Amino acid sequence: MHGIAPIPGYVVIQPTTLCNLDCTYCYLPHRALDRRMPVEVARAVAESVNPWAAADTRFSVVWHGGEPLVAGRAHLAELMAPFVGVEHHIQTNATLVDDAWCEFFRTHDVRVSISVDGPAERNAARVTRGGAPAYERIRRGVDALRRHGIGFSALCVVSAPRAGLARELYGYFLDLGCDVLGINIEEQEGVNSRSNDFGADPVRAFWAELVEAWRAEPRIHVREIEWTLRYVEAVLAASADELLPRALDPIPTIANDGRVFLLSPELAGFTDPRYSDFSSGNVLTTPLHEILGAAAESAVWVPEYLAGIEACRESCPYFGFCGGAHAANRYFEHGRFDGTETNHCRNSKIHLLEGVLDHARAH
Ligand code: SF4
Repeated sequence: MHGIAPIPGYVVIQPTTLCNLDCTYCYLPHRALDRRMPVEVARAVAESVNPWAAADTRFSVVWHGGEPLVAGRAHLAELMAPFVGVEHHIQTNATLVDDAWCEFFRTHDVRVSISVDGPAERNAARVTRGGAPAYERIRRGVDALRRHGIGFSALCVVSAPRAGLARELYGYFLDLGCDVLGINIEEQEGVNSRSNDFGADPVRAFWAELVEAWRAEPRIHVREIEWTLRYVEAVLAASADELLPRALDPIPTIANDGRVFLLSPELAGFTDPRYSDFSSGNVLTTPLHEILGAAAESAVWVPEYLAGIEACRESCPYFGFCGGAHAANRYFEHGRFDGTETNHCRNSKIHLLEGVLDHARAH
């Protein structure tokens, strides 16, 4: 894996900066401001995306906020209209999902992913702007999806990984009825400065227990377990070198105002004297495909991050599994991009792989 691919696997679009919730671990700096994306930004993105989608059997546009549903059905429909041949995905906190939104998801063939951290008592961080628990509203949204027979994925943030928790969470998500589950160990990122140093043993024990629970009833695709098993299988088949993509996926995030942020959506909305606003251009002045064609030099931090990837390749035995993890985690933990290990990569890469192997050794 070298450099940055000129064509992404998917794009992330921010229809609004606003979120109706105020989760205590959220990284978003402008979630209290309603800055909506003008339709001309979506049109400009679609000019580059549509040819990529035409050449690909599955090209995704991921609508991610703020809370994308806050933009409203009429505006979201206008933003989606210029895209042809893409698969639309929405990442939502589910609190606004009702019959009308379910109808919208059907009409526009939208794949839905919801954010929920487990049963009510595990959702203490997910609160309304007034500080009230959001769980009941999340459940009402899930009930609407289920009533309408709309399949959904779930993203769960784990703020205190440890043995005993994974089994409870997995049982909850089996009951919830999601098809796919992603587990994000809480990250020290953006405006969330809480430490994510959870120690090796509890995190490994969490992952090992999650594999055990999943193996007992493998009805959900668990993103992290499937990645890990794919890697282990490839190592055993002596094909692990072919597992990472040949170049990094740029994962362009298009902010509400048309600015493009590469590799880490979490950098949008921040500034730094060394790195300016982290953006690589604006689709209102430069076509997205041109911005990506010059990705490696498009912002001052990108070459520094590529140097960090090379440092990982040289020094880390987990590189073949991890591929260097995310740019934003390096920045928000180290203050720069060319360091290597972060608490994030320990929690979500190193201890994940070790936890899965711990489980294999014990059985
Ligand atoms: S696990 Fe951490 S140090 Fe190792 S390759 Fe990934 S990001 Fe780099």
